[in-house]
Amino acid sequence: MIKDLNEALVIDQVRRFGPISRKDIAINISLGASTITYIVDSLLKEKYFMEIGSGISDYGRKPVLLKFNQRRSYVIAIKIEENQINYGKFDLNAKMLDKTSHYFNPKDSIETIFQLMAEKIGQWIAADSLICSGIGIAASGLVDQINKKIIYSPILEWEEVDFSALEEQLQVPIYLENDANTIAHAELWDGRGEQFQNFICVTIGVGVGAGIVVKNEIYRGEVGGAGEIGHIIIQRDGFLCYCGQRGCLEAYTSDRFIMDEALRLKELKLSPMLNKMEQLTMDSILQAADSGDELVQEIYKRVGENLGIGLKSIVNFFNPGAIVLGGEGLRAKAYIIPAIEKELEDHFFARHSKKLEVILIDLEENKWLMGAAAMVITQLFKEPLYREVNI
Ligand SMILES: [Zn+2]
Repeated sequence: MIKDLNEALVIDQVRRFGPISRKDIAINISLGASTITYIVDSLLKEKYFMEIGSGISDYGRKPVLLKFNQRRSYVIAIKIEENQINYGKFDLNAKMLDKTSHYFNPKDSIETIFQLMAEKIGQWIAADSLICSGIGIAASGLVDQINKKIIYSPILEWEEVDFSALEEQLQVPIYLENDANTIAHAELWDGRGEQFQNFICVTIGVGVGAGIVVKNEIYRGEVGGAGEIGHIIIQRDGFLCYCGQRGCLEAYTSDRFIMDEALRLKELKLSPMLNKMEQLTMDSILQAADSGDELVQEIYKRVGENLGIGLKSIVNFFNPGAIVLGGEGLRAKAYIIPAIEKELEDHFFARHSKKLEVILIDLEENKWLMGAAAMVITQLFKEPLYREVNI
């Protein structure tokens, strides 16, 4: 067990601070030189590290440095969307090596969808001489990480979808994660994790979700569902949400809300721009706002206010250092963000000298995938090391 833990510590040092000398590792983790030499030799044999050139020493002797071998194996990251599945192949530094995607019919059986996934993943596994160490899958909804199940995803309309059969078929460990949490993983990997210990990543798209980071770890809650901020109530006796509650934040910020409000304007013939359009789409509504239609702009401002009210509750409850915001729901950010910021001007901690930061991120597809890859890599170097030796 101790050897195990020490191996994990040494790998962590080389991953984070490499190229690094054996001596510096020994100092950083307070282990004796002979123990370090023993562990490093064994990890070199297992190709975790490469020895490179030499470092600079005060005493003239130049020690050989250890560099993490990010191509020891690779991981695959997957994001399941409403009718599309995106795949990314990543090295162990979470650098993307390849990507692909395909559409699927949401009405297809899970077996058919799994078969499509197995084919795509199988192609990569067959083509690479390196081992695939893990597959990270990001999906919306309530995820049971331990049993590798999506318990319930309203957006995908999936219930009790068990990924262990796919894992069995592929013979590669699968790690499931709620999609908003993968953004928190991405931020912990190379984003706000450096600057903040406690922050919330809010994703605004088809739904509103959040990844909660507490002391640099993702907080999941009792059943893994923490962060469903789309379903906090912002309006008593409000609109009915698909979750069964009334007045959910999501019901006041979603595309459907925007569409319903725009249709109302059109029906009342209040918007000259919308009147001219035969059929409204999310793009055409935004176009109307961008062409200066103030009533349509007002819809987006209300979305921003509603989000701001929801976020304010989160801030008061959780006192985060930052709120990281991203997602396609912010396509009208010119109207939405100022409204969010205005709402967040006054919250319970507003008078404290340390100000809450609202940070906008570009949530393009690769970020979700990178987060799923980072989640797998973090897991790989935390636990499987123990498993490898213990089994
Ligand atoms: Zn709801």
